[in-house]
Amino acid sequence: MSKVTLLLGGNRGDRELLLSNAVKAVTKRYPLLFKSLVYETEAWGGIAKGPFLNQVIQIETKETPMVLLAFIQKIEAELGRMRNDHWGDRTMDIDILFWGDDVINTPELTIPHPFIQERKFVLEPLKEIMPDFIHPVLRKTIRVLDDECKDISSVQVYKK
Ligand code: ADP
Ligand code: MG
Repeated sequence: MSKVTLLLGGNRGDRELLLSNAVKAVTKRYPLLFKSLVYETEAWGGIAKGPFLNQVIQIETKETPMVLLAFIQKIEAELGRMRNDHWGDRTMDIDILFWGDDVINTPELTIPHPFIQERKFVLEPLKEIMPDFIHPVLRKTIRVLDDECKDISSVQVYKK
């Protein structure tokens, strides 16, 4: 069994409904261990327009990373079909942040996800559910990575 941490989010369409549908689809197939609150975050990188809703969950699986990747891409495609996305905007993006303490570098997968330490919208929900988890490559806790992160984008707990 591996404990796998995922980041889900999007900035188009009914963001709340899409996020809850994505979490439902994932946790129908994999047992849920932890779920962060929903966070609202500024669009990152200057291409996308409109704030994102993001959530981090941790699930458990016996499957391989490639099987999980295929599954989350199927969910992205199903939820993505609900709207036409502009470039940089997306109805649903699901990224694999951590796979236990494993380090994976293949053409299809980089785990831990390479940008965790640069993005407040990843670190804030991560810190909520696993502040003492040690990043298996950077060898620092999520709490320390969050303290050291220079990203100044606004990330706030989402209230309807
Ligand atoms: P991005 O998430 O970078 O904005 P996409 O969601 O379109 O872009 O993903 C592009 C590709 O990133 C996927 O086809 C997948 O093979 C690859 N990828 C590499 N590492 C990961 C990871 N840790 N989680 C999810 N996808 C990943
Ligand atoms: Mg992605």
